[in-house]
Amino acid sequence: MQSNHDGHWDEEVDLLIFGAGAAGMTTALIAHHEGLKVLVCEKTDAVGGITSTSGGTTWVPGTRLSVDAGVPDSVDDARRFLQSVVSERGGDEAREAFLQSGPLAIDELQRISDVKFIAAAAHPDYVTGPGAAFGGRALAPMPFDARVLGKDFSRVRPPRKEFMGLGGMMVNRSDLGALLSPFASARHFTRTAAVVGRCLIDRLRYPRGTQLVMGNALAARLFHSLRKRGVDVRFEAPLIELIREDGRVTGAVTGSTDGSRKRIGARVGVVLATGGITRHPELRKQLFPAAAQRLSLSPDTHTGDGVSSALQIDARLDNGGDSPGLWMPCSIRRSRDGSDSVWPHIILDRAKPGLIAVNSRGQRFVNESNSYHDFVMGMLHDAGDGPSVPAHLIVDAAFIRDYGLGLLMPGRSSARIAGFERSGYLVKGATLAELAMKLGVDADGLARTVETYNRHAVSSEDPLFGRGASPMSRFNGDAAQQPNPCVRPLGDGPYYAVTVWPADLACSAGLAGTANGEVLDANGAVIPGLFACGNDLASIFRGTYPGPGTTLGPAIVFGWRIAKFVAGKSSDRDAVGRTRANACLHELP
Ligand SMILES: Cc1cc2nc3c(=O)[nH]c(=O)nc-3n(C[C@H](O)[C@H](O)[C@H](O)COP(=O)(O)OP(=O)(O)OC[C@H]3O[C@@H](n4cnc5c(N)ncnc54)[C@H](O)[C@@H]3O)c2cc1C
Repeated sequence: MQSNHDGHWDEEVDLLIFGAGAAGMTTALIAHHEGLKVLVCEKTDAVGGITSTSGGTTWVPGTRLSVDAGVPDSVDDARRFLQSVVSERGGDEAREAFLQSGPLAIDELQRISDVKFIAAAAHPDYVTGPGAAFGGRALAPMPFDARVLGKDFSRVRPPRKEFMGLGGMMVNRSDLGALLSPFASARHFTRTAAVVGRCLIDRLRYPRGTQLVMGNALAARLFHSLRKRGVDVRFEAPLIELIREDGRVTGAVTGSTDGSRKRIGARVGVVLATGGITRHPELRKQLFPAAAQRLSLSPDTHTGDGVSSALQIDARLDNGGDSPGLWMPCSIRRSRDGSDSVWPHIILDRAKPGLIAVNSRGQRFVNESNSYHDFVMGMLHDAGDGPSVPAHLIVDAAFIRDYGLGLLMPGRSSARIAGFERSGYLVKGATLAELAMKLGVDADGLARTVETYNRHAVSSEDPLFGRGASPMSRFNGDAAQQPNPCVRPLGDGPYYAVTVWPADLACSAGLAGTANGEVLDANGAVIPGLFACGNDLASIFRGTYPGPGTTLGPAIVFGWRIAKFVAGKSSDRDAVGRTRANACLHELP
């Protein structure tokens, strides 16, 4: 095996971690807690990566938090559930490791750091099956007061601009209802006043609101915990190249803003946590379907550096199973200044009653109230007549008033609606035929589709696609619409539509690894000293999307497992070339 090291290190640590997202920062926290000297090198000038722009929901079954929330969950139920969802797609060993370690990882993070979660009593799994849970598995990061960060606040990557009100206000999932209809009740009004008031005061002193929620709170909590421990987080220090000696990865070359390079030695290992391949110029083209090339929700600095550096030393790329990407349907609004606002249609509109999605043939193609990932899997499916990309979400005026559509929030304001129309984001047709013509959709097809949908919808049924059949879709529907919270007929015109495209929210494809996050080579043997987690490691769910928090759950749990493994807290520490899923579980506190 060739060596690319001349024996000289500019610096040496125990564990060298690339990427300060959820995966990298969790690994760093636990490794530091285990007494290792840790260095986190981050490519950009801020921590957080996609994590900080995410919902922050973290899917970990069987935690103590589920008990606290009054919906005790069990690992055995989750195992049955995953067996039915992931089925024969492989990766059982790593999934078992995830299930076994999950509760321990969350317990320990909560105990030793400022990372705090709360389990949602109601946040159902995304697919149905034996062992599926209605609540207890989706962990939400507790809101975080960023004022304690002082000048480090600017080091936390802000959320997506589309997710902030008043130029910087974050809104928690639990506050959405109040903010969308502030005058509906005294409680809504008081809550809205508190959230908005806090942000306005913040804006006098800070570039954005300091009440952080969701993924931004998670990233900030991890960062704050690292700072309190004095862990070295180095900014604008990208991974350039891995260093390998006698087959073992012993360090890496990092870059800097002044163009200088550093060779950093890593006594126990190098961890790749650089956020995956979503914007890798070649791998994206090679792995992602042609119909999903247009949009990515990851920062444009996510160029797949971790994966490509590993591939250079013969690591194995796993195509991610059913799908290389994990997806959200997104609409795009072009602003006057030429910039785009990209809106992921996550929970607010697709499952609400009175919306259908059609393709250019005017046909429905999927249960619109499915999870965002499964909705896009439906868009990408090609039954011989092409994928349904782009697709159009079609509603009537009452729907806009009640639920809004994409970037257009609910309400009656005709001026606001007209503004969205003028920008080309919202397309309006007095009749279905006019709407079809404007969208470039087959008018006869659309007429037939609406006629069929409405015929069943009057009796709250959707025999073709089963809207409202799953607990998750009913949960995201409108409880006031009974008996089926996801179905009501489309009324008379005018009709409105927004166009949606597939966008990746994460990748399922990534480096092939063991249950301890050790990276495998092309022959399936462990590359000693090299680890990967988060989106750099292939998803343990093999391209399926079982529940809310499908990527952050494993990112955190495998970060924890890697730290335990390199710290010698597992019996297979030296088991180079072998993979033992549960090895570290019996020796932990
Ligand atoms: C709108 C949206 C909502 C989402 N909501 C959820 C959710 O609620 N739950 C869930 O599970 N998932 C969610 N996701 C997906 C989730 O955010 C990501 O899968 C997850 O955050 C990835 O974590 P990570 O640590 O692997 O990567 P990141 O958080 O992206 O961190 C990677 C870090 O590595 C850095 N980096 C890149 N290259 C280098 C280099 N060469 N050297 C050093 N550093 C480098 C990056 O700058 C970044 O800081 C959502 C995604 C989006 C877009």
